[in-house]
Amino acid sequence: MNPVTHFLTGWAVANCAPSLERKERAMVALACVIPDVDGLGAIVDLATRDSAHATEWFSRYHHQLHSLVFAILIAAICFVMAPRKWLTSFLVLLSFHLHLLEDLIGSRGPDGYQWPIPYLAPFSEAGKLMWGGQWRLNAWPNFAMTIVLLGLTFFLAWRRGFSPLEMVSERADQKFIETLRARFGAA
Ligand SMILES: [Zn+2]
Repeated sequence: MNPVTHFLTGWAVANCAPSLERKERAMVALACVIPDVDGLGAIVDLATRDSAHATEWFSRYHHQLHSLVFAILIAAICFVMAPRKWLTSFLVLLSFHLHLLEDLIGSRGPDGYQWPIPYLAPFSEAGKLMWGGQWRLNAWPNFAMTIVLLGLTFFLAWRRGFSPLEMVSERADQKFIETLRARFGAA
């Protein structure tokens, strides 16, 4: 699924625990995007496309970090960094796994390829996750999910007084909340 849908999913998970602070919410939200760093090889491929040493990092490495080991590693890093250690790492694990679930149900490539998820890599090639009913990346359920999540994000921002903008600038976030509440009334 696309990074925006993943991010908004992670943001919804981050909002499940009202006691989390800004930094912890960011960790939980980003945990739903981070597996796709293994797709960044696409940039290298693009850069080397016309050279004598064209790479194929995307097809070789994409989905290699969609694994339990990487999930545990990320959760462990968040455990060290977060004030509310157990709660944050638990939600980080949940958020990461929702990414895998979203890929499983709706990330069939334009060529029909299913990108099996090597959940037990690098220890075992067995148990790759795949689902026969998987729909395409650009299929309508993905659009519908993104719109619902976007609506939820706006609602939560209006209600709770913070939005994903807080990850970039608290001032911009406050301005955004003021605008929302001026338009839709006080929460
Ligand atoms: Zn993914």
